[in-house]
Amino acid sequence: MESCLFCRIAKRELPSKVAYEDDEVFAFHDIAPQAPVHVLICPRKHISTLNDVTAEDGALIAHMFSVAQKIAAQSGVDQKGYRTVFNVNAEAGQTVFHLHLHVIGGRRLSWP
Ligand code: AMP
Ligand code: ZN
Repeated sequence: MESCLFCRIAKRELPSKVAYEDDEVFAFHDIAPQAPVHVLICPRKHISTLNDVTAEDGALIAHMFSVAQKIAAQSGVDQKGYRTVFNVNAEAGQTVFHLHLHVIGGRRLSWP
């Protein structure tokens, strides 16, 4: 997806503050953080929303959560608490249609 914002960030065509990367995923700090820790974990493969994930992506999704664990530990919020979120489509507030897992922490979070 040539015009996709997060594809372009993952290819480093656009700048970001990188938190973690490997062959499968690219993670960077949110440009408008909702908490002291706010990192987005994206697959390098373009997937629009969680609705488009298939059984073939199972290992990839598991890997995204394992990267979330790492980021939480590195950020020092793993024991105090943090949240992982996939926003899916309009009513959930999804604004970028490239799958991303939010890792949010560093303050007391309200619900929802
Ligand atoms: P969502 O609302 O779940 O689609 O989340 C999209 C997130 O991407 C929002 O929290 C935005 O602040 C964030 N965002 C948008 N553009 C950028 C960017 N260029 N670099 C980093 N984060 C971004
Ligand atoms: Zn994309």
